[in-house]
Amino acid sequence: MTLVPGDAGIPIVDFAPFLDGSNKQVVADEILSSFKHVGFVYLLNHGMSREQVAKIFQKSKEFFVQPVEVKKLAPHPPPGAINKGYYSSLGREKVIGSPITPTAREQFQCGREDDAEQPNIWLPDGMVPGFRGSCMEFFWLCYEVELNILRALALGLGLTEDYFVNYHRAADNGLRLLRYPSVPVDALRNGTVGRISAHSDYASIITLLLQDEAGGLEIEDPDVPGLFRPAPPIADALIVNSGDFLMRWSNNTIRSTVHRVRAPLGRTSDHSDGMAPERYSIAYFCTADMDTVVDCIPGTWNAERPRIYEPIMAREYVMKSLSPKHKMTQ
Ligand code: CA
Repeated sequence: MTLVPGDAGIPIVDFAPFLDGSNKQVVADEILSSFKHVGFVYLLNHGMSREQVAKIFQKSKEFFVQPVEVKKLAPHPPPGAINKGYYSSLGREKVIGSPITPTAREQFQCGREDDAEQPNIWLPDGMVPGFRGSCMEFFWLCYEVELNILRALALGLGLTEDYFVNYHRAADNGLRLLRYPSVPVDALRNGTVGRISAHSDYASIITLLLQDEAGGLEIEDPDVPGLFRPAPPIADALIVNSGDFLMRWSNNTIRSTVHRVRAPLGRTSDHSDGMAPERYSIAYFCTADMDTVVDCIPGTWNAERPRIYEPIMAREYVMKSLSPKHKMTQ
């Protein structure tokens, strides 16, 4: 485990000794410790190849370079029960309790193809060839990575390795491709334009995040509310963060850390014409199977440390994430 000096102190963990079985417990302990203290971890050797990652970023670009009229042929429905399809938040985002800030972001979300409750919304056949297949291929690759991280998490908590896997058989997950257009650095710095406002991942157990080299992700210092520190891109690393749902499940043993996307590092003059470059990222939101009931994890509560939360069905919990309070911001 390595700490990155001068930034958010997010540990960097090599996942290989877990995957090859050579040192599972040490890796599991490092991941759990990261989730408990920071809520974020960088994973190296996570199981996705550089080529697989490059391919989905390429497909993402092929989608987002389409004219907006084309992208709107896969429209995200108005806020409600369905969180799928193309959504542009230019000028529309409003997080409850914060001032209105125009945001510059567009995104496309999909999930497993056989989800009757949350059907996917694709472009008409033939537009952006290979897009649908690439999204699904990457969705299931992320699912494999997710299950391995959940095995490590369980081991870290002293549970059997398949403890969380048993709640994640259906892959009720969301793959979200994101693009942040180029905007003036100063506008990002002074907050007149946002990329994504400060939030925690409400519906996620864990979120897998890949970002390009543009930078701009920041996480709140766990010990200093309101102080945000950069979580810069690290080559070939996967960022994993724990979400509100895991915080609840773990009886607040694990953190769900507030994060946001703003201006990249460096001086304004470092950027040509004072413009922050466009930024691409990919998030994979992992949620417990909708039909499972989540109760505080054994070992996270006892007579001295009572259960804070009632058991809840995942569907009931997740549906709240589509309420206006949490709308689109995860
Ligand atoms: Ca997030």
